[in-house]
Amino acid sequence: MKSNSSVALTKPSVEAGEIPEPGRLKALFAANKSALQKTVTALAKVNPRELDGLVHALHQQAFEVYDCLNCANCCRSISPAIRYNDVDQMAKKLRVKPSEVVSRFLTMDAEGDFVFPAAPCPFIDHDNYCSIYSHRPKACREYPHTDRARFYQLLKLSLKNAEICPVVYTILMKLKV
Ligand code: SF4
Ligand code: SF4
Repeated sequence: MKSNSSVALTKPSVEAGEIPEPGRLKALFAANKSALQKTVTALAKVNPRELDGLVHALHQQAFEVYDCLNCANCCRSISPAIRYNDVDQMAKKLRVKPSEVVSRFLTMDAEGDFVFPAAPCPFIDHDNYCSIYSHRPKACREYPHTDRARFYQLLKLSLKNAEICPVVYTILMKLKV
């Protein structure tokens, strides 16, 4: 069992207005990168259940006050990993064959996952709406993963995501040691 002895965690909260504008995130991340790295290292030593409780509470508060439609940074800068089931769902929505989804929209990365070949995602529209929202890939539905159980397994990924997602950045900054 992991111990929480090296990190004194209070119960932080997220207020409206504390989540940075997406356009400021790269600079903020660069300015706080070493503090965020230190935080992630410290959080890895926290009791997993306690960590999940804190992160999930912050996730819920953040998304109550923050609208992804004002951001869409994830859809505009990274590709989700797309599985065969996702391809089938996308094909259903687009009313084409799965092979057409692959040939028109996807490529395979070095890990053998389908991905969008370039950012932004071909399905994001100018108002930040996803045109296949009801049939979007599982990875899109789960992003930014801050409500996932066993969050300690996602600490390294979340450090990367803190440069892309204002909510992840805010959550990690709230837990800063
Ligand atoms: S499929 Fe939709 S949710 Fe996923 S990256 Fe594209 S626009 Fe965003
Ligand atoms: S999940 Fe994060 S990066 Fe994606 S739109 Fe919402 S706030 Fe922005």
